[in-house]
Amino acid sequence: MLQYPHLEQALKYNFGYDQFRPGQRQIIEDALQNRDLLVVMPTGGGKSLCFQLPALIKKGLTVVVSPLIALMQDQVEALRNNNISATFLNSSLNAYQVRSREEAILKGKVKLVYVAPERLLSERFLPFLDLVNHEIGISTFAIDEAHCVSEWGHDFRPEYRQLKSLRKRYPNVPTIALTATATDRVRGDIIQQLGLKQPSIHIASFNRQNLYYEVRSKTKYAYTELLELIREIDGSAIIYCLTRKKVDELTFKLQNDQISALSYHAGLTDAERSTNQTRFIRDDVRVMVATIAFGMGINKPDVRLVVHFDLPRNLESYYQESGRAGRDSEPSRCTLFFSFSDIKTIEWSINQKTDPQEQLIAKQQLRQVIDYAEGTDCRRTIQLGYFGERFSGNCGNCDNCRHPKPMQDWTIEAMKFLSCVARCKERFGMLHIIDVLRGAKNQKVTQYEHDKLSTYGIGKDRGLDEWRMLGRSLLHQGLLEQTNDGYSVLKLNALSWEVMKRQRTVAIAVPIAQKITWEEGSEKAVAAEVLLQNLRSLRKQLADQQSVPPYVVFPDSTLKLMAQVQPQTLTEFAKLSGVGSHKLAQYGKKFLAEIKAYRQEQGIPEQSDSDTAFKNLPTDTELTTLKLHQQGLNIAEIAQKRNLSPSTVFNHLAKLIEKNQPVDFNQLIPLEHQQKIWQVLEVLGDISLTPIKEQLGESYTFDEIRLMREKWRRESRKS
Ligand code: ADP
Ligand code: ZN
Repeated sequence: MLQYPHLEQALKYNFGYDQFRPGQRQIIEDALQNRDLLVVMPTGGGKSLCFQLPALIKKGLTVVVSPLIALMQDQVEALRNNNISATFLNSSLNAYQVRSREEAILKGKVKLVYVAPERLLSERFLPFLDLVNHEIGISTFAIDEAHCVSEWGHDFRPEYRQLKSLRKRYPNVPTIALTATATDRVRGDIIQQLGLKQPSIHIASFNRQNLYYEVRSKTKYAYTELLELIREIDGSAIIYCLTRKKVDELTFKLQNDQISALSYHAGLTDAERSTNQTRFIRDDVRVMVATIAFGMGINKPDVRLVVHFDLPRNLESYYQESGRAGRDSEPSRCTLFFSFSDIKTIEWSINQKTDPQEQLIAKQQLRQVIDYAEGTDCRRTIQLGYFGERFSGNCGNCDNCRHPKPMQDWTIEAMKFLSCVARCKERFGMLHIIDVLRGAKNQKVTQYEHDKLSTYGIGKDRGLDEWRMLGRSLLHQGLLEQTNDGYSVLKLNALSWEVMKRQRTVAIAVPIAQKITWEEGSEKAVAAEVLLQNLRSLRKQLADQQSVPPYVVFPDSTLKLMAQVQPQTLTEFAKLSGVGSHKLAQYGKKFLAEIKAYRQEQGIPEQSDSDTAFKNLPTDTELTTLKLHQQGLNIAEIAQKRNLSPSTVFNHLAKLIEKNQPVDFNQLIPLEHQQKIWQVLEVLGDISLTPIKEQLGESYTFDEIRLMREKWRRESRKS
């Protein structure tokens, strides 16, 4: 028997979701039992809900400790959009705002308060907290990003260490610690540093099934491929580069190619960074090109693509950074561009490290990244193996599983390569060996008289990249060695000789041209696409009105459901996952209207009751206007004749267009104006009226533009 049978209802009512994600229910039950908890879930696992739902059910105030202001604001906005009384206290508020929020808390009007640790533990705040505890009770401390207590984590914050004192001050208030960090050491540290008492520990799988992982070689076509990737997705992308300079260059190139992109790195001012970030989160701009400074604490669940245009430092950071894709569990893509020259750059920077221990670790980490990138096994298996989680078989959602690379017999090439290493007396690195094989005439070759070797020029039939691929693969397969002294001199071993003596064959996985076929859409999905775009614009419009990110209005998954199911009544609409009680009331009718308009244009018959069907027929007064319009009267004349205001008549006409009635545009708008407005719409797309008017100038009226936009929408949906 379920201990808390009504949790699903509470979930649907407050958050609109039908089901708990794996682990959530158990965690929430433990939280309701007032147990201490350690929750380890990957990004996008749904950690927040684990303390938010209990906060609503339990008596008193839940205090959420969160390290970043942006993160607090996002979460509070999302909660408020579900009509949940949450607030935050941080340095962005003035004294008056702080006071009024504190008053609301003391009146018991707030269920969740988000606070930064330094404020929480300040001399001024603790007495307030005592008062809260006395008056209304503190139900839980939720410590988000709990790995910040650990020096072993990637984001140590000394203030987090002080949180232990809360334990002493409020011994009976349970603590929930949450993190996405996967290592054992950090987990142990969290329990100890926060003084968790016999915590219930929940560690979710780190397998992110919705993410498609792929590695591509960074050829001279990489940029073109990147463009294609960006154009392919329907939503936002993050492109990571190694340096600020590369970030700026790439942003510039993308902008030149009409991609709406901004950059983010430590070279920008705080204000610039924060503006760019907000514009990205609000979907004003689609692509963020960034150094790894970007991402920590960015709560954008609908990123559809994360590209590493340069090699990541280690596998753990790759997992975390690429993991910023698809937090909402929708299919998303993680692409790594891999090149040998990147390896050289990183090796060089590793060699600059003075601490030999650090150097060793960095080299090993680089090795693991290369293994991952070059690997022909399932990418998931490699990644999860790194975190000690086992996964076997075909995941069906990585490049190696979807398009297994064909193995080719390269024994002859391997023999050429290895014997060239031998002829050069095992004293040179890979590039020189390849130069000799390809018959290069550079100074080093002539200096050592390697142009006189029998292997000189025997490899002209293959390109530099191909020889490198072979060389790497030989190293990988243990058929060749490389010194670790920073010079990477190639050395032969027993297996190398077996190859040269034809006692062993060599097969390598060769990349094939990759086509973007990861999301094969069914016919129905294609049809729903048009509606989906309309719903997106509506969502953006509603979000802008409230200055919140679009995902706060509805997540992508809910929009997709709408487009598929095409509900026609509020009752049907309420059933969609993501539609809670508050959002139903706030947005239901608007989205239903959009769906209805679409169905009419497509000529899809109404299935629901006559009442709704009725609303889409022109009203009597609209029909009267239509008749006069068809007799050739203009708006002013109709208004006069009917004793109505011109704007009412105009609204009739707009409604008539919306309802697909035969309104003659030539009669309402001069032909020249029609053409100009149309052109602007073709360029600017479906945006609000003001920028269109700005483009056109004074002589155009909003009314004209609005009517034309209605027509343009109709036409572009048809095509
Ligand atoms: P995390 O903090 O673990 O990265 P979040 O708490 O931000 O993850 O949740 C990620 C996304 O998943 C959010 O958009 C959230 O609304 C959504 N989500 C959480 N729980 C559920 C659920 N049970 N059903 C559907 N979506 C959920
Ligand atoms: Zn796989």
